[in-house]
Amino acid sequence: MPPNSRSAARHHRAATEATGAPRERAPVVVIGAGPYGLATAARLSAARVPLRIFGEPMEGWHTHMPKGMYLKSVPAASSISAPQPGYGLADFRAAEGKAPVGDLYPIPIEEFIGYGRWFQERRVPELERSMVHGVRAVDGGFGITLDSGEEFLASAVVVSTGLVPFAHEPTQLRRLTATGLTSHTCEHRDLTGFAGQRVAVLGAGQSALESAALLYEAGARPTVVARAPAVVFGDPPQTDRPGTRSRSVRLRKPGSALGPGWSLLAVSRGAAAYRHLPTSVRLRLLHTVLGPSGAWWLRERVDGRFPMLCGRTVHSAVPEDGTVRLELADPGGGIEPLRVDHLLVATGYRVDVDRLGFLEPTLRQAVRTFGGAPRLSAGFESSVPGLYFTGLAAAPTFGPVLRFVCGTGFAARQTAAAVSAGIR
Ligand SMILES: Cc1cc2nc3c(=O)[nH]c(=O)nc-3n(C[C@H](O)[C@H](O)[C@H](O)COP(=O)(O)OP(=O)(O)OC[C@H]3O[C@@H](n4cnc5c(N)ncnc54)[C@H](O)[C@@H]3O)c2cc1C
Repeated sequence: MPPNSRSAARHHRAATEATGAPRERAPVVVIGAGPYGLATAARLSAARVPLRIFGEPMEGWHTHMPKGMYLKSVPAASSISAPQPGYGLADFRAAEGKAPVGDLYPIPIEEFIGYGRWFQERRVPELERSMVHGVRAVDGGFGITLDSGEEFLASAVVVSTGLVPFAHEPTQLRRLTATGLTSHTCEHRDLTGFAGQRVAVLGAGQSALESAALLYEAGARPTVVARAPAVVFGDPPQTDRPGTRSRSVRLRKPGSALGPGWSLLAVSRGAAAYRHLPTSVRLRLLHTVLGPSGAWWLRERVDGRFPMLCGRTVHSAVPEDGTVRLELADPGGGIEPLRVDHLLVATGYRVDVDRLGFLEPTLRQAVRTFGGAPRLSAGFESSVPGLYFTGLAAAPTFGPVLRFVCGTGFAARQTAAAVSAGIR
């Protein structure tokens, strides 16, 4: 157990033994140390809420995204929210002696991981690098079990375990899963091991296109298979700084954290209002606003480099002699064969509370859901009092901004305020 973990455990035991009233002093527990967990913890700790936070700092980025990747979000929209100024990506770059950057600078993932860890060391030094094994409801609170076997009580729990538990694979590929011939993009931190292999990449979003580019550059032979009729790329920003764009451009396509355009501006600023839209509208917007597309800077690494089979769906996928035999269906009803050594699934993430195995089954069942996602209050609280969900799990309630780092400000402010009010 890391030293800070031991001291927090000692501190809590001491408090419990001394007072004999563990629940009154039970800490709030934040599960997860990615951008959302860190931003929430930073706010709770600034509000002097007794807190324990668990997880590996930036694990989602370090372990479940490929080396060599770049962020699609621009630097101005890639800061983890903190209660005080001085902890943005620009501050990190300045502290590292690096020059300021604008919208034309794609952030290398290694830089962003470094930034997240820098943020954690300064704003969330109490992080305990242990995993939460179980959460169960106990009278008026929660019983927490860590991987180390330690057990303690929490007054509230904020679940910020990110995307990985929600990795989505089309059901017709399940037969292949056990063979190791298929994998989700989140299972890879390094794609160079595929050098020399034929890899079908399923999907048309940034993750699919960038994975295919990285595979190609590593000496693999990727083929993109996409349901969409064509692969789409964003347009490069007109200038490096939004303020220097012409008035007509700014009026037609106002800048926002999610990119230029009125609809993106509305969803990036209107997360609180989004929650009041009818459920069907919310779920539709979640998938259509910012639909699958590649970043502008990715186009030259993709176009003309490897085959892209658009307008195709997987009709069947079967293992054969250590390879995958795919049958692809086109809209005209035609079937086309494709033989590959591996099928890389880049079909994204779907929120489903049932996938959160660390929540004891009875607790999971008590969480009211819609389409698998938790129903949340304006303060990110689920139907189980004291149990909060943030990050991607909150996107079906608050909209697409919660899928990105730029949503950490809204989420952390709302959650920390509700948690603080709830435990008083
Ligand atoms: C390929 C890819 C590219 C992306 N690019 C961008 C981009 O350019 N810009 C952008 O804004 N967003 C991007 N995103 C989305 C981005 O990943 C999320 O917005 C962000 O990481 C969510 O942060 P989070 O804190 O919710 O989760 P994560 O960053 O996934 O962190 C999850 C945390 O939970 C912890 N954890 C998990 N289980 C447990 C447990 N049982 N106990 C304790 N801790 C646990 C992990 O250790 C980790 O610390 C991208 C996503 C993907 C997949």
